[in-house]
Amino acid sequence: MMTNAIGEKMVAGAGRGSPHGGRLVDQRLAGEEAAVLAAGGLPSLVVTAAEAADLRALATGAYSPLTGFMDAKQHQAVCEWMRLPEGLLWPIPVCLGLPEDVRVDSEQVLLRDQAGGLLGVLQVQEVFARDRQAEAELVYGTTDPAHPGVARVLGAPRLAVAGPVQALVAPLAGPVGARAFTPTQTRAAFQARGWATVVGFQTRNPVHRAHEYLMKCALETVDGLLLHPLVGPTKDGDVPAEVRMAAYQAVLGYFPAGRVLLGALVAPMRYAGPREAVLHALVRKNYGCTHFIVGRDHAGVGSYYGTFQAQELLASLDPEELGIVPLRFDNAFFCRRCGAMATAKTCPHPEQEQVALSGTQVRAMLTAGQLPPVEFSRPEVARLLIDAYQS
Ligand SMILES: [Zn+2]
Repeated sequence: MMTNAIGEKMVAGAGRGSPHGGRLVDQRLAGEEAAVLAAGGLPSLVVTAAEAADLRALATGAYSPLTGFMDAKQHQAVCEWMRLPEGLLWPIPVCLGLPEDVRVDSEQVLLRDQAGGLLGVLQVQEVFARDRQAEAELVYGTTDPAHPGVARVLGAPRLAVAGPVQALVAPLAGPVGARAFTPTQTRAAFQARGWATVVGFQTRNPVHRAHEYLMKCALETVDGLLLHPLVGPTKDGDVPAEVRMAAYQAVLGYFPAGRVLLGALVAPMRYAGPREAVLHALVRKNYGCTHFIVGRDHAGVGSYYGTFQAQELLASLDPEELGIVPLRFDNAFFCRRCGAMATAKTCPHPEQEQVALSGTQVRAMLTAGQLPPVEFSRPEVARLLIDAYQS
């Protein structure tokens, strides 16, 4: 048992492959229970798309050990200490905003989507003033409203309502929804395939050769790969989830079928850089992964975070407390002299030998209907993106 700077005991994150905190949370609400609740005359709170995604993640255990939206004490501990009040590592507040015009004077409040559909129920334990400025500063490292994650925090209601939740985890529509597995489902899939070690790969972008290379490097040493794109609310300009899923499917053709599972993670993207890299790792731990790929500027946006800041934060954490092995990768590229994919760790040649394109350059090519070099992007992936950019 470790202690923190003020002498409090910190709870270890349990063993390898175990959920964070040791138990996989299951706060799913059965259809019949939902029908009874809906008929009970309870007040309703309409949640945002990001809050709805968090609600689903809470109910499925993706955010284990959290069982609901955070209270003031949890919010403060997570912001200031990066831990829950009991000492367990947790990097980012998960809060539910309470708009000024909504009263929660009963013990329970129904949570509904924008269209009025019932999503779940919250046991009201506390309403508190959320210090959004402190949250932005401590968690995101900036209060700049141009940062999309900070904008969401600063734009949230002044009050937050806290308490455990239960939510309907209905199957989602379409090819993306069909892959929105719960942690229980991925854990069962890993077990059925006999994977003792599994590496998770988080992405919100299409996968080009560079990321394919990182995944393959990791797959050389572990049993399986969970390709786990985030499909919740992202920022404008990110490629739509349906297009990305089609592109991931195309990339799967370059992996042995029995070594990869493609799943979709329904969660909001916060762009919180280092803190979010920790969250991404813990969520994949809950999904049953033992290893997690962390690239350059993981979960970053703009130039708010240093290139290796996320990797450094993960490396600074006690491995036992983290409970999932971060695999830290540099940028990959095709080197003409090596005649292979490589990184600065494995290739000695000058930059001019690299087939490299910036994100802006790639988007410009795809928008113009041009295929990037095959060393940069698989043509079948590029063609899907060209169709999307041109439509
Ligand atoms: Zn080289």
